[in-house]
Amino acid sequence: MLMDVDATQSLEPAIATIGRELVAAMPAARHTPRAAIERRIMGAMVDDAELRAAVFRFVDVRPACADPGDLARHLSELLSEAEDSPLARRGAALAGGALTKRPVAHAAAAGVKQMAQRFIIGADAADALPAVERMWREGVATTIDLLGEATVTEAEADSYADRCELALRTLHEASLQWPARPLLEADRAGGIPRVNLSVKVSALTPLLRSNAPERGIVGAQARLRHLLRVARETGAHLHVDMESFDTREAVTELTLGLLSEPEFADGPSAGIVLQAYLTESPEHLDRLLDWARTHPRTHPFTIRLVKGAYWDHETVEAVQHGWSSPVFTERRACDRNFEELTRRLVDARPAVRAAIASHNLRSIAHAAAYADARGADIELQVLRGLGDETQAALLSAGRRVRAYCPIGDLVAGMAYLVRRLLENTSNDSFLRAQAEGVDLTTLLEQP
Ligand SMILES: Cc1cc2nc3c(=O)[nH]c(=O)nc-3n(C[C@H](O)[C@H](O)[C@H](O)COP(=O)(O)OP(=O)(O)OC[C@H]3O[C@@H](n4cnc5c(N)ncnc54)[C@H](O)[C@@H]3O)c2cc1C
Repeated sequence: MLMDVDATQSLEPAIATIGRELVAAMPAARHTPRAAIERRIMGAMVDDAELRAAVFRFVDVRPACADPGDLARHLSELLSEAEDSPLARRGAALAGGALTKRPVAHAAAAGVKQMAQRFIIGADAADALPAVERMWREGVATTIDLLGEATVTEAEADSYADRCELALRTLHEASLQWPARPLLEADRAGGIPRVNLSVKVSALTPLLRSNAPERGIVGAQARLRHLLRVARETGAHLHVDMESFDTREAVTELTLGLLSEPEFADGPSAGIVLQAYLTESPEHLDRLLDWARTHPRTHPFTIRLVKGAYWDHETVEAVQHGWSSPVFTERRACDRNFEELTRRLVDARPAVRAAIASHNLRSIAHAAAYADARGADIELQVLRGLGDETQAALLSAGRRVRAYCPIGDLVAGMAYLVRRLLENTSNDSFLRAQAEGVDLTTLLEQP
């Protein structure tokens, strides 16, 4: 049952308290030279529209780059196009000397590469094991994401599925030796797998197209079914990420269709993503909850609530086609919806498990306060590299936290990093407001 408006209002003191406690528990900003370079790059991207445009174009050319050298060359050229932008002037400071525009771009490319290494925890599952185990020992759970863009051939889809299987088996084997971490391994609904993998349907088939969802479903079905079997065999959790709106139907149909098959009723633990920036996400949640209630599972179906990573894409697509936009155009409306969906998810237990994924202190504090008020278990999730301070604060507050950790080569990693940078240096980003020193009371305001 939903709380009424007054009851929601009465949460505000708890939200403020939790928010302030989390900020107090955040580690101080890092003062290494590497951190200084990262801050300069972020600063340049916030201030410099031309640089942001160049970086956008870089994401487009990324799939055509053969290796890291090629990639650095492209990035260098694109940044050089932004020659009259403040970056050129900033460049000297960035790289520590009087530089012409081309070396500035090279320095920026090197800096971006260095930053990518903070976001990507390893080249493959074996390489990532030490980091995953270190986090587990510290008390942080992970979900692994194998980087790679949308596949264009069946061979690429096979290769992605193979890498997913290898990751599940490698992590499972290693996880048998990890020490017990009761908070991460069970909640009131039962056991929580130690190993957790996030997969993208667009990487499991080259056929995922908005105009032919059936082909995408058929194309990805066998590979996803196989991964579900491997996850069940290894006792892992498999989570299906959500991508652009035009693929939502296919991703939802595919996931719910497979999980409805009798062989998967007892496992594996599995889940899907709900994007709060979609105006019709409340109706979509109705559908997910109806399904979960009519398909009881040994491991409750997990729903990860996010705002949505494709806001610019959805907005531009809608304008180009003359459609009405599927996303909220006002930030506060999106944040309000996120809070309403959070409350509905918490109240939907035990049919589902709620995972609330955000770096926005208000969104997180609201979720924690509501779950506390309801005596409910939730999991909070952050992106590795962006949510590290939040993760540390949640850990010290004794809350269950999971970091979404990409693994893959640096070429794929840089494109991922650039997307995250664009998102978090946009005018509407919470992290940007926080970095600019907006006061805590404002940051914690009800949206
Ligand atoms: C663990 C984890 C897993 C994730 N998995 C996925 C996934 O599977 N699919 C996916 O799409 N995303 C995913 N994301 C990314 C997520 O959707 C957000 O992009 C990201 O977390 C930023 O949101 P925030 O709440 O942290 O930040 P905030 O700064 O509070 O919110 C930024 C978000 O607000 C929205 N927004 C921006 N401008 C406007 C506007 N003018 N009007 C309305 N809304 C606006 C956008 O969604 C933007 O990302 C994941 C994030 C995490 C932490």
